[in-house]
Amino acid sequence: MKKEIIEAIQEFETIILHRHVRPDPDAYGSQVGLAEILKETYPQKQVYLAGLEEESLHYLARLDEVPDEAYENALVIVCDTANEERVCDQRYKDGKKLIKIDHHPNHESYGDINWVDTEASSTSEMIFELYQAGRISGFKLNQSAARLLYAGIVGDTGRFLFPSTTERTFEAAQELVKYGFDRKQLYESMYQVPLSVAKFKGELLQSMEPSESGAASFKLTKEVLERYHVSPEETHSFVGIGGDIQGVLAWVFFVEDEEVIRVRLRSKGPVINGVAAQFNGGGHPMASGAKVSSWEEADELVQVLEATCQEYKQEKRLEQK
Ligand code: AMP
Repeated sequence: MKKEIIEAIQEFETIILHRHVRPDPDAYGSQVGLAEILKETYPQKQVYLAGLEEESLHYLARLDEVPDEAYENALVIVCDTANEERVCDQRYKDGKKLIKIDHHPNHESYGDINWVDTEASSTSEMIFELYQAGRISGFKLNQSAARLLYAGIVGDTGRFLFPSTTERTFEAAQELVKYGFDRKQLYESMYQVPLSVAKFKGELLQSMEPSESGAASFKLTKEVLERYHVSPEETHSFVGIGGDIQGVLAWVFFVEDEEVIRVRLRSKGPVINGVAAQFNGGGHPMASGAKVSSWEEADELVQVLEATCQEYKQEKRLEQK
């Protein structure tokens, strides 16, 4: 699969890179990290970064305005995006050849080449492995690419904490840090939060009441977010809130954003991407997302989450007998 991707990269003179809507560091890390590898290796090729910019990720990279004509004879590579609806900038279909590179469960194949590895901690880790496979064909990695891929890996593994972190992850990280980028500054950009956000996290912890089954839910209405000066995007910095709390198995944040209520689900045991799938979402077994259109629907989702936690507890009890 990697060989096919490398051959396609060699073949095309224009390569356009996409990733998912509402990007996170792995989306940017894999998209822009791959772009940096390609620019370093093939300075004569046209390499474009498509998609809406996310202000909170400006510290990682800035993207391009891609002209429509660029797609005519282009290779398009979509990184870190499980399904077509979530690709940012729907012109991704307009190229000559399409490649999907992703680490989410592959419920929806798209494109001419699908490289999906759900064992990878992040798509950035996969891009590093693509670079390793391409070295023999002349692929080059520079400091900027190393910083981006490292940021993507760090972001998706919760700083090497989540069980998705494997030997492969540490091997990639070990190689990437050799490029000498400023790790302290990178971590500050990724993890420092405004005082308002830190205080809000404190409020959430104060109010947290996990149910008997181990589920917890948080409803962040527009009004609440405005009162605490927290943006919907900033909720990413405390979405892992239940991780270290005894008795909490899975939790959900409902974040009111424009016309929809975004759902951010996390777990320490029960598989929750099935819950997300019931509400038009998806994602990883322990970190998923969806959208609901009303607070009534949000309550329905909480019920499903409760049942999932109950079942999980029941299974654990049976296993111990
Ligand atoms: P988030 O809470 O936004 O960090 O998302 C956690 C995981 O769920 C990521 O792997 C996303 O790709 C996935 N995800 C989030 N929202 C959706 C959605 N609406 N549909 C499918 N997957 C989603």
